[in-house]
Amino acid sequence: MSQDDTERKMLLQEFAKCRSCRFCVDVCPTYQASEGVESFSAYGRVQIIKYLFSGMLPFDDSLVYCLYSCLQCRRCDVVCKSKGQNLDVCELILRGRRLLSKRLERGGKHAKL
Ligand code: SF4
Ligand code: SF4
Repeated sequence: MSQDDTERKMLLQEFAKCRSCRFCVDVCPTYQASEGVESFSAYGRVQIIKYLFSGMLPFDDSLVYCLYSCLQCRRCDVVCKSKGQNLDVCELILRGRRLLSKRLERGGKHAKL
């Protein structure tokens, strides 16, 4: 198993801990700026990465935009942890971006995730 495959598996395991409580949605500044588009919230980004890397969501430039528009402000982390969850959402989004950028380097839409 390659290093990328291992990382993808670890990311999916982390995301499986998300309880879909959506406490991280309203606090996200990009969600607020989008006037309510969930893909621009922390929870939306978690779902995008999860489904992209599990092969259930086709690669799309708009999804990349959703991931890269995250400001890394950590407001989602604070809420997620304060509500008793244990996800470092901000860090997971970064790791998802890293894997995605490797794919883009290897050939964009047609490279295997
Ligand atoms: S607050 Fe944490 S557990 Fe709840 S939806 Fe957001 S990422 Fe998932
Ligand atoms: S770190 Fe990203 S996802 Fe989390 S609240 Fe800030 S902008 Fe939203």
